[in-house]
Amino acid sequence: MRRPCIEIDIEKIKHNANYLVNYCGEKGIEIMGVTKGVCAYLPVVQAMLEGGVKKLGDSRIQNIMALREAGVENPIYLIRIPMISEAQDVVYYADGSLNSEIDVIKALAREAKKIGKVHKVILMVDVGDLREGVMPEDVLDVVGEILNLEGIEFEGLGTNVGCYGAILPSYENTKILVDLAANIEKKYGIKVKTISGGNTATLSLIERGKLPEGVNQLRVGEGILLGTDVTNFRKVPGTVQDTMKLKTEVIEVKVKPSYPIGEIGRDAFGNIPVYEDKGPMRRAIVALGKQDCRIEGLKPVDDRMEILGASSDHMILDVTKCPEIKVGDVIEFNVDYAAMLSLMTSGYVEKVVIR
Ligand SMILES: *Cc1c(COP(=O)(O)O)cnc(C)c1O
Repeated sequence: MRRPCIEIDIEKIKHNANYLVNYCGEKGIEIMGVTKGVCAYLPVVQAMLEGGVKKLGDSRIQNIMALREAGVENPIYLIRIPMISEAQDVVYYADGSLNSEIDVIKALAREAKKIGKVHKVILMVDVGDLREGVMPEDVLDVVGEILNLEGIEFEGLGTNVGCYGAILPSYENTKILVDLAANIEKKYGIKVKTISGGNTATLSLIERGKLPEGVNQLRVGEGILLGTDVTNFRKVPGTVQDTMKLKTEVIEVKVKPSYPIGEIGRDAFGNIPVYEDKGPMRRAIVALGKQDCRIEGLKPVDDRMEILGASSDHMILDVTKCPEIKVGDVIEFNVDYAAMLSLMTSGYVEKVVIR
């Protein structure tokens, strides 16, 4: 097995998916399993499906295409607003997409008509996080325009908080969707099928009994993949964590001073480092760097070690308290969402499935 590698415990991910599908299902809420955090890595996607997830969502059309090529037939949604330039692929490979721009939806309509398909559109509403979405006061008019398009089915409304603006989901900001849906039903005499109320962070509203009646979908990635909810800075109750572990190999161990010798300029990334002189230190280098991983998202499993920093290809650890560490040893790390995302994206990191 090549190193570095990320070991993924498929049963744990299946457990998380199954737990959340059942927990939300009892309350009439479906889970869209979001696969972008693992680049739609097929064994993980299959674990989600075995756990009971029926619909999938990914932000990259390439991931969706790969899932189709692998034979996945479940409904898949593109959850990043489509680019007009990818409209043709989007209607061909995805069943639906999240949208906020009428010109994009018109492009999807054109392409869908060409191949005789109907593409589902969930209109995103910005309730304050200031990432994607139509402002609430514009929703009714935009829906009116969508309803006039052939090749498009208006499926419902969605919102996303916590990702960009770090705005927490609340009863009030989620209720905006439900109220808008009621207004749409009244004005246009249609049924709004889907109210997609948020992501992993919105699970906390269910637990507190604060999810507005009417929300019937959440799009969940992190909660299934890692059992964590970074927006609320917590573990998701009922799920397991440690679903993934990074394994790296030690390529140097030496006692060196903790304060560099010579005049300090800038590091390889243009930053001016600050050092504390802690005297001589046993330092290990592992073969992994910033090209592969967001280092800040790693935590050594052995808490006697400390990550000092990294350059593109080398990560340096203080192993003063671990006299047994030698060249060739394996050092393991727990990963957060950002570290997982970067490791799964890196072509230099081997992906290994354990059961
Ligand atoms: C990434 C993403 C999600 C999933 O978020 P998690 O926090 O991983 O559950 C849901 N919706 C949209 C639009 C996203 O971009």
